[in-house]
Amino acid sequence: MKFRSIPLFKLFGIQVNLDFSWFIVFFLISFTLAEYFYPQYYPGHSFFVYLFVGAISAVLLFVSVVLHELSHSLVAIKHGIPVREIDLFIFGGVAMIEEEAPSPKVEFLVAAAGPLCSFTLGFLFYILALLYPVDDLFNGIINYLMFVNFALALFNLVPAFPLDGGRILRSIIWARKDLLTATKISSATGTAFAYFLMLLGFLSLVQGSLINALWYGFLGLFLRNASKVSYEQTKLSVVLSKFRVEQFMHTIKPVLPDETITDFMVHYYPIYRSEIFPVIASNGRINIIDLQDIKNVPKDRWDLTKVSDISKPLEVYVSPYDTLLKAIKLMNRYGVDELPVVYGNTVLGVIKRDVIEALVERFFLEEKLKGEAG
Ligand SMILES: [Zn+2]
Repeated sequence: MKFRSIPLFKLFGIQVNLDFSWFIVFFLISFTLAEYFYPQYYPGHSFFVYLFVGAISAVLLFVSVVLHELSHSLVAIKHGIPVREIDLFIFGGVAMIEEEAPSPKVEFLVAAAGPLCSFTLGFLFYILALLYPVDDLFNGIINYLMFVNFALALFNLVPAFPLDGGRILRSIIWARKDLLTATKISSATGTAFAYFLMLLGFLSLVQGSLINALWYGFLGLFLRNASKVSYEQTKLSVVLSKFRVEQFMHTIKPVLPDETITDFMVHYYPIYRSEIFPVIASNGRINIIDLQDIKNVPKDRWDLTKVSDISKPLEVYVSPYDTLLKAIKLMNRYGVDELPVVYGNTVLGVIKRDVIEALVERFFLEEKLKGEAG
């Protein structure tokens, strides 16, 4: 249920994006409020007034969701976990928190921040409704926001991973056992809750309420998928953070800057078969040449082009002591399959994505075989 997203604005260095699927909820909520909620409790206005108020309510719901996700993000950032973006889509929002929390305590704090924010907002709107007891549409908006914020807090507190409540549950188990066991248990409750939602969808269908049936059905499917994916990701992170780059890198001899591309293709490429090579630049620094850049040079010019002519300054790299997890994250972020391994001023070699993937595959295969044997 994710389409293309539109960048909205940046807050505290976090990019907030709006997924196109969000417009579906926007129209659904605006219309439902204009057709049912507001006319029933606040009668006497035209449909267009209701639609306008419904649209304002939907936008303010969006603001509430952003604040909820922002709370998670700010607590994460405070504990040194980077957050690049917040995506808003059909079922609410997701803060792209880039790393697993370093400890159960941090996981607990990050997870609890969202529902705490929604509870606080709900309570503020409750006070506002008390201060403004006039029976008009403005009061209606306040009541609606009180309701949605309390609902956001409560729904997210269901102990179903990867919902906030599931993360809280995971942090509590993690504090007593290990991260992987904690994730396994909380994902199982996540999957159970997802099936429960699907059951609600089925019951709604039996009762003839198609919209509710679809809503529960899709939400259930989404959650089941999310709990499965999050568990796999955690498993992967746990495995990859056990190994260091130095254990799996390929050493590469730097290319001399005056070598021509022809020399390079004869003397370097066949030996190392890498996609990137370090080049010693004239200023003593390290540059990089990319196989793709070489392919962009016509073959009849290979004898005339020096390696230093097409090399670029080194930008993204890992240290030999970084974990494979960090390496794969950088590869994903920059869309590359190889990274130079740099120590001080020296390029020691490259770390390749397929090597990491092969390691992961072997690890999971061994794990599976062990599971079957035991
Ligand atoms: Zn949350």
